[in-house]
Amino acid sequence: MKIHEYQGKQLFSASGVPVPKGIVAKTPQEAADAFTKLQGAVAVVKSQVHAGGRGKGTFKEHPEQRGVVLVKSADDARNNAERMLGSTLVTKQTGDVGQKVQTLYVEQGLDIKKELYLAVVVDREVGLPVVIFSSEGGMDIEEVAESHPEKIAREHFDPGMGLLPFQARKLAAAIGLDAAGAKAAESFLPKIAKFFVDHDCSMAEINPLVLTGENKMLALDAKVTFDDNALFRHKDFDALRDLLEEDPSEVRAQAAGLSYVKLEGNIGCLVNGAGLAMSTMDLIKLHGGEPANFLDVGGGANVEQVTEAFRILLADPNVKAVLVNIFGGIMKCDTIVTALLTAYDTVGITVPLVVRLEGTNVELARKMLAESGKKITSATDLTDAAKKVVATLGA
Ligand code: ADP
Ligand code: MG
Repeated sequence: MKIHEYQGKQLFSASGVPVPKGIVAKTPQEAADAFTKLQGAVAVVKSQVHAGGRGKGTFKEHPEQRGVVLVKSADDARNNAERMLGSTLVTKQTGDVGQKVQTLYVEQGLDIKKELYLAVVVDREVGLPVVIFSSEGGMDIEEVAESHPEKIAREHFDPGMGLLPFQARKLAAAIGLDAAGAKAAESFLPKIAKFFVDHDCSMAEINPLVLTGENKMLALDAKVTFDDNALFRHKDFDALRDLLEEDPSEVRAQAAGLSYVKLEGNIGCLVNGAGLAMSTMDLIKLHGGEPANFLDVGGGANVEQVTEAFRILLADPNVKAVLVNIFGGIMKCDTIVTALLTAYDTVGITVPLVVRLEGTNVELARKMLAESGKKITSATDLTDAAKKVVATLGA
């Protein structure tokens, strides 16, 4: 689950992680008032969308307008806000469709001496959280990793112990901070590491992390992602959710207890089990097709869930054929076919449907399919299923 920069900063602040002063604005007038309230000579007006690259991003409606701008007066803040609010921001991370800006964050403009990069993520190979620290802040970190890998320092830490002071000093030394910078890092880094663990994040990225002229270290940006599997421990995060930023079909799937990820292709997939869903997508690709989605209905899907799954798949106008691939284990094949046939009638499936079933009660299930009189193509195995569904597209 992603949250907005301003929400990340509010959480940072509550955890003692230093951030600049800022005010949320939903109208141009609020942006002007925020400038006045901040009492600085300059402020920064920042688009709030769940995507990075806003500083370099531009608006579809106003190609000259950037997603993050420095303003020098209340009027300046208002004029920029007028162009930004309700307009569509396109950045490297939003894709061509862009994202509509509904909220702005007006922040005090800082005297930046140095821009650094800081992130905490989970290193799955090592099985520990890791702090990534670099002197090259404000830049695309992937580019730095390509061209100057030596400028990126990493330090794993034990989630129970947190990042220890010597580890913070090691990181500071590795990126060449001076004594004052190292001192600031020794205070800042353990706090963000603790924030990461306490909030069950999958990522906390601060780019840039800045050192001011007075050697204060502050988070100038905040990209926080929570681990969805831990959300049950943080009921309060529900209030941070912005459904306008999420894919509507993914929101719908989540409500039905389905794991669904929309993709660009045209073959809808309905599968039980994440591993099987992945291999189904692989096989579709191998045989020249493009999956329209990842969808795992889970081990114990019921008729309602399968029906909702079909609705979600078919609501995607790109979907030109559907492949159902079920391994009946805990859930018997005939149960799935009952659900499938019910869904077929209620949803009204108009695209070719290929079904591959295997496992418990498969004979009975195949018989039910054959006798249903519906236009459903049966497949004997996975490869056969993938070939058949690709063939329906007549490519
Ligand atoms: P994004 O990463 O989406 O482009 P950032 O929050 O990193 O957005 O802002 C882009 C750039 O704008 C930063 O790299 C920084 O140079 C500048 N900036 C952002 N906030 C401030 C601020 N409060 N004071 C001064 N400069 C800022
Ligand atoms: Mg940034």
